[in-house]
Parts: sequence; structure tokens; C-alpha cells
Amino acid sequence: MTQRELFTPDRLFCPGPTPVPRAVAQAGVDAGSSIYHRSDEFYKVFRRAAELLKPLFGTTESPLILASSGTGAMEAAVVNLTAPGDAVVVVKAGKFGERWEKLTKAYECKVEVIAVAAGKAVSPADVLAAVERQKDTRAVLLQANETSTGVAMPVALVARELRSKGYKGLIIVDAISSLGAHVMRQDEWDVDAVVAGSQKGFGLPPGLAFVSLTKKAWGQLSRRPRFYFDLERERKGQAEGRSAWTPASTLVFSLREALEQIDAIGAEGFAAHHAQLARAARAAAKALKLELFAGAAPSDALTVFSVPAAVDGQKLVKRLRQRFGMFFAGGQDELKGKIVRFAHLGFVSRFDLIDGLAALEFALHEEGYPLSLGSGVAAAMQSLASTP
Ligand SMILES: *Cc1c(COP(=O)(O)O)cnc(C)c1O
Repeated sequence: MTQRELFTPDRLFCPGPTPVPRAVAQAGVDAGSSIYHRSDEFYKVFRRAAELLKPLFGTTESPLILASSGTGAMEAAVVNLTAPGDAVVVVKAGKFGERWEKLTKAYECKVEVIAVAAGKAVSPADVLAAVERQKDTRAVLLQANETSTGVAMPVALVARELRSKGYKGLIIVDAISSLGAHVMRQDEWDVDAVVAGSQKGFGLPPGLAFVSLTKKAWGQLSRRPRFYFDLERERKGQAEGRSAWTPASTLVFSLREALEQIDAIGAEGFAAHHAQLARAARAAAKALKLELFAGAAPSDALTVFSVPAAVDGQKLVKRLRQRFGMFFAGGQDELKGKIVRFAHLGFVSRFDLIDGLAALEFALHEEGYPLSLGSGVAAAMQSLASTP
């Protein structure tokens, strides 16, 4: 063990996986290694977890719990709600919008892409225009948070714009990096499908994904071959706590624990905590004269800084990791070296946030960026102190 590892053990500040609270990890361990998933005891845990998911999605329907990463739930939504040849509109504002595009193309949909500049949010009017260009649009697919750029998309406004102008098709939202950090009101906004994943806002390790359909959407399943992700089949069994296939049992125990903790303050309270941390991170950026990459529509799940011209962004992220054990994320593809992504998603405290900011300041300082050490931390603390 190096001196660095001894005094600064690894910590996660990347947008997934996020830190796992001790009690959440322990719940999986306590469940033991001999769980029988076809037992009343397990069904009870499963049903409780599904029940506790509802307020996070803002729905009265039971979200389904799948054993996969988030992308599996995205695929499940596409497979169960579209058919080959269906016209769909995809909002592409980064890597994850691109994933919707690739997925719907792989499943032979006719895909119209709305390309949005990196760091910008989609305009509801542009989505409406795309839908009106294709009269038979079956589905609109977008992210609630584009994690690759740190942008929060105006999901409620997009849905309202579409519905108020008579759009009857489906709205499918990848809220994988948004749920928990931002309020979702699936039923109220009339969003047909919402997808989430365990290693983002839920404070769990990777391995579970969630997909939630409204009552209306359940009546609009498509006809196409499917098997593992046959949601109709899952729905029948999961109503009793019985997943179609072997569930990721230990993670389901951890999930229930995490959701009980969130339930103690409520979905709104959990989101408000994220908003508070995000405001503090933005205040720190301002004090450090770091530009916010998604300045016009910043997410409350992560804050994305533009790397100052004189600093090597890749070296900065590497330094944070190797020297301080702080796992931030850099940019991908054309954003490589240009941005630093600092997540405050899930079970992150104000003190975690301050530690992350302090590490960022140290690393910037060592990379030669002129700053007064502690100025970002001070601004964050001021911000936290002014919002109870
Ligand atoms: C992380 C993420 C995904 C992918 O989830 P996996 O669990 O890696 O499959 C999809 N969409 C968004 C917005 C994400 O943040």
C-alpha cells in the first residue's frame, strides 16, 4: 500500500458508479449467500422495493426491476414499445442520446435525430417540429440528464409542449443519471416510459435497472419478438415479487435498504439535497473562474467544468485519481481533455462535496492554474450555509 492509498482511499466522484452507503452494502451481505429467490421472504423484499420506487418515478404503477445495467432497460423500452419501421425521434445531445440513436437503429426503427450542440439543452419547440415533420411518429426518446455534458433536459416542458399540441405518440425518457437528483412526475407529465439504473442515483453497485411504464403505455406494447426483456411477462410475475428470470438477489436487498433511506426524507427531499449540492458546486466554479460547460441548463446530478485553456484536462483527471484517489470523469470523444465531470449524485454529503472541490483545487494548482487555494471551497461553504 502506498502512502497515498493509506491516507486517501479511493473515492468516487464520477457519474456512475456512485458511492455505496455502508448500510446499503451491508444489506446485500446480510442477505447471505444462500437466498432462494422463489420464497415468500424474497418476494416480500422485492415487492417492498418496487413499492418504494414509485415516488421516485412519480407513478402509481409498479416500476419493473431488471437484472442488467441501465442500457438493458433502455433496450427493454425500445423492444417492448417499438416495432421495425416505426418512425421515432431521438434527441441527441451527447453520448447517451447517441445510444438511443444506435439502439433504435439496431431495432430497425426509422430514426429522425435532433442534433443538439454539446452543453446545450433541447428546445421543446424543436422536438415538436420534428414530430410534426413525421406525422406518424411512434415515439420520442430523450435523456433527462445528458451525463456526457452535464445538461438537464426540460423533460416536463417537452412533454407539455408535445401533449398540448396533440401528440399522441410515446415519450420515452432515459432518466438513468437523473432519478433521485431531479424530481420525476411520470404520470402527471404523461411520460410513457422512464428508465433508470442502480449505480447512479440509488447508491447501489451496478447490476439493477428499472423501467416504468404508465397505465396508458401498458396498453400500447408493440408486436415484435422478445424474450429476456418481455416486460408483459415481467409485469405479471413482479406484481407478486416474482421476476421472470433469476434476479440479482443481493442487490434487491441493498435496493430495499437504499430506498427505505430515501423514503425517510422523501423523493422531493432527496432531490432538494441534490439541488443544494449542485448550487454549491456552481458557486465554487464561479469563485475559481471555471466555466460551467452546461451553464444554461446545468444538472443537479453532476457539475461539468470546462478545462481552462492552459491546463491539460486529461492530466488533471489523471492527477486527481493517482495523487488524491479522487475518481472524477473526463470528457469522451470530442470532449476529451476539454471538460471535467464532477458528480454529486446519490448518497453524497456536503462534506464529500467539499472534499471533492478541495481535491480539484489542489490538482488545478499543481497543474499551474492560478487560484487562491480554498476559494472554491469557501464559496461552496457559503452557498451551503445560506440554504438550510
Ligand atoms: C450511465 C448512463 C447510461 C448507461 O447505463 P449503463 O448502466 O452503463 O448501461 C445510460 N444513460 C445515461 C444518461 C447514463 O448516465
